Amino acid sequence: MDFDDTPDEAAWRAEVRSFLDRHPSAPEQPRAWQAILYDAGFVGVTWPVEAGGRGGTPMQQAIVDQETARHGLPPLINLIGIGMCGPTVIVHGSDSQKQRYLKRLLRADDLWCQLFSEPSAGSDLAALRTRAVRDGDGWRISGQKVWTTLAHLADFGILLTRTDPDVPKHRGLTMFVVDMKAPGVTVRPLRQMNGDAHFNEVFFDDVRIPDEERLGDVGDGWRVALTTLMSERLSLGGGGTSIGPKPEAVARHVAAHIGALPEDRQVLARQELGRGYVAALGARYTGYRQLSKLSRGELPGPEASAGKLSGTRSARDLTDLAVRVLGPDAATADAAWQDMQALLPGMAIAGGSDQVLRNIIGERVLGLPAEPRADKGVTFRESIR
Ligand SMILES: Cc1cc2nc3c(=O)[nH]c(=O)nc-3n(C[C@H](O)[C@H](O)[C@H](O)COP(=O)(O)OP(=O)(O)OC[C@H]3O[C@@H](n4cnc5c(N)ncnc54)[C@H](O)[C@@H]3O)c2cc1C
Repeated sequence: MDFDDTPDEAAWRAEVRSFLDRHPSAPEQPRAWQAILYDAGFVGVTWPVEAGGRGGTPMQQAIVDQETARHGLPPLINLIGIGMCGPTVIVHGSDSQKQRYLKRLLRADDLWCQLFSEPSAGSDLAALRTRAVRDGDGWRISGQKVWTTLAHLADFGILLTRTDPDVPKHRGLTMFVVDMKAPGVTVRPLRQMNGDAHFNEVFFDDVRIPDEERLGDVGDGWRVALTTLMSERLSLGGGGTSIGPKPEAVARHVAAHIGALPEDRQVLARQELGRGYVAALGARYTGYRQLSKLSRGELPGPEASAGKLSGTRSARDLTDLAVRVLGPDAATADAAWQDMQALLPGMAIAGGSDQVLRNIIGERVLGLPAEPRADKGVTFRESIR
């Protein structure tokens, strides 16, 4: 990849920079910040124009992300909507769903969440049990989701359900758009170890969804969900953005404290810093490889899984190092490091756990034998007996 901007990219960067220079701080209301950026043309840059986007290139989006981070401005609130739900509606939604939802999602007029995981269907997503049963011109939904990021604020969600338990598990699923304010939807926040409550349990108690809110065909929900999961891995997996602390910030932090360590520990800290820094750069360049493919119009392959895996790992190693170099002072001195340390283990689970990503790389990239699957070819009902 050529790391210099092309003339077009340089012009775009200048446009983004000049806009952000005029907006040095974001309004307190995160929806308002997203609306400002959308109105300026900097949200949904790669989305098609008819979906409310700008029809731009992945590089243009990456430049917006880089410049927003460089200006110290906050990320968008509706990231799950933009990264996962919207792309799914674009591919599988009806014209009327696209009209109703997409532009409002980009402006954060509506916030969205992704209702996939359940208490016994996380990594094994196709084992989900939330039932959707035909009811006249609509459906009745009963069941429970868990770990639903932003559900407590969301207006809509994409909801994966089981419509037929009498076929193999991947074939009996159907996807819907659900109104999170509909009667029978209950959202209960879950508290994380850093004190925040970003995700939730969501209960569906005989919730009615009109058939026009179905996304894709009945029984075709797995294919629809794969669109979401592919977009998810792309939006988490790299593209030049890095998970967690920037290596330069950690290097500065460690360098500032390294002299205070006993001499033998200084050597060790330097070695660890070197190793962590190189690993973080490796993760970043993997992200750039993914960007290069996207800008050539190709779909990224295993880079997305590898990028998420290595990005999360190196962010954890660097944060641990920073906290260890501070020693007991870490408990009081620098809340940002403690916060990152509490947050990052979750990143190694969200959007595909490290172990599952390793399986994907093992099977699809290295060509190792596939895991034995006991429920292959049997109906879902038989598999849960
Ligand atoms: C911060 C965060 C945000 C999230 N946001 C959302 C959201 O918005 N919407 C949503 O639907 N979900 C969300 N999730 C849920 C997330 O997708 C699941 O937690 C994840 O898929 C893992 O599922 P699980 O928790 O059920 O663990 P399990 O699947 O029970 O896994 C437990 C352990 O076993 C390992 N394991 C399981 N199967 C295999 C296998 N085949 N090979 C090797 N190891 C295996 C796992 O890697 C893990 O270590 C979020 C999770 C987190 C942490």
